[in-house]
Amino acid sequence: MNLTMPSLSPTDTSVSQSLHPSVTPSPSCSVVIIGGGFAGLAAAVELADQGAHVLLLERRSFLGGRAYSFTDKTTGDTVDNGQHLMMGCYHYTLRFLEKIGSLGKLKFQQNPQVDFLSLLANGQTHHASFRCPSLPAPLHLLAGLFKLQTIGWRDRWNALRVGLELRRLNGNRAELADITVREWLTRLGQTETMQRRFWDLVALATLNETPDRASADMFARVLDQAFMHTRQDSTMVISRVGLSDLYTDDARRFVEQRGGTVRLNAEVARIEFDGIRAVAVELKTGERIEADAFISAVPYFALPRMIAPEILAVSPGLRPIAQFKSAPIVSVNLWYAEPVTDVEFSGLLESRIEWVFNKNAISGHSQSGHQHLALVVSGAHEAAKLPKEELIAIAVAEMERFFPAARRQKPAHAFVMREHDATMSHVVGTARLRPSHKTEFENFFLAGDWTDTGLPATIESAVQSGVDCAVAVRHLN
Ligand SMILES: Cc1cc2nc3c(=O)[nH]c(=O)nc-3n(C[C@H](O)[C@H](O)[C@H](O)COP(=O)(O)OP(=O)(O)OC[C@H]3O[C@@H](n4cnc5c(N)ncnc54)[C@H](O)[C@@H]3O)c2cc1C
Repeated sequence: MNLTMPSLSPTDTSVSQSLHPSVTPSPSCSVVIIGGGFAGLAAAVELADQGAHVLLLERRSFLGGRAYSFTDKTTGDTVDNGQHLMMGCYHYTLRFLEKIGSLGKLKFQQNPQVDFLSLLANGQTHHASFRCPSLPAPLHLLAGLFKLQTIGWRDRWNALRVGLELRRLNGNRAELADITVREWLTRLGQTETMQRRFWDLVALATLNETPDRASADMFARVLDQAFMHTRQDSTMVISRVGLSDLYTDDARRFVEQRGGTVRLNAEVARIEFDGIRAVAVELKTGERIEADAFISAVPYFALPRMIAPEILAVSPGLRPIAQFKSAPIVSVNLWYAEPVTDVEFSGLLESRIEWVFNKNAISGHSQSGHQHLALVVSGAHEAAKLPKEELIAIAVAEMERFFPAARRQKPAHAFVMREHDATMSHVVGTARLRPSHKTEFENFFLAGDWTDTGLPATIESAVQSGVDCAVAVRHLN
């Protein structure tokens, strides 16, 4: 089958104009978007809002990509493919969620706060809070660090040097491009204890890579974005509902109400180029679809499968993709009959599990009546290779070490998710290989968390990339 998407002329826009009278539609633009994760949906929403004729093609039978949820068969509870945390500095994401009407499904912290649990010499659990008071940024961060009891006084003072260095760099991080997070922090006099008990957890959580491999440039960018601007930027934002319920249906509805189409089970096998332009996509079924513009919003490892090797080999933007590698995330979900903790989420110091999320406290309910805990290991290159039974045993043992209530019971149910390609690995040197959203083909654009947004591969990077592509498409004519 060979289809040509109808181009949208200004007279076709009565539906979108009546919904959004202030929006000027881009004339005669039909756009194919490949991939229905955050990036593809953000591009689709933005373009549909501008009056473009959007067709989104998703390979799987559901939307959400690497951020989705499903119902656990045993308990009936909603389980994410991995706990996702956002921050107040996710400006693009929050705008996207607001646009599709999903903002009310989020929980916002009033003041930045992260809890840490550590074990004392006598085996008791010590609870400390990294709580930033109502001061302008970055003073809120310094005040928060000064009260953090999991690190000693000297280390708290010393942390000032990181803040001062970020101020000195003032966004110009070129000198950090070739060193690791570990090298940078050591240069800044951060002791081994301070790194192990604070910075390593922050780096793993934000970059999904171990500090010995991760790029200092990307870490400095994260710290700058989260802590050097407004206090609001440093707050944690978390979904009260399963990830799929947070955005996929609302984004789809938004696009369809504006005349767009979202097709599931529609895997693109090939993108056809004619030298300077993309002309069509061919689905696995053989169906061929032409359009005015094309946005690829698939992960870095899926893109080369759709592009002929002879094009990849000569494309300056696409060729470096072959050098990218993935970093895994392992999640262990445990259900306990008796509550184990009442804290919403906490970092575990010196543990093989980095974070514990109390899903009942976050969502406000439990289908099963059990306490559902989601445990996270990021940058999980070693853990991802372990058998599920071993991962569950490690998780249960760690819960017993940190929470007395977990020693009195065995979990009623356990479920492991291993996301081997959770994000691209932000090792030293990767940043300069990430391609821009614009390619050498004038109507073919790249979205996805891995493209050159300047941010680590996160939801925010994905959404920003989708919006950037939508803006570029708008400027095509
Ligand atoms: C376990 C885990 C935990 C995470 N935690 C966080 C967190 O706490 N905070 C945070 O900000 N980020 C987190 N992330 C990262 C975040 O999920 C991603 O950055 C984001 O979801 C990427 O979105 P994307 O649209 O770029 O790509 P994807 O979500 O991968 O979407 C790409 C889509 O393209 C589709 N596709 C692929 N090939 C084709 C084809 N040929 N034809 C049609 N469709 C195709 C795929 O099926 C997929 O739906 C986490 C990721 C994981 C896995």
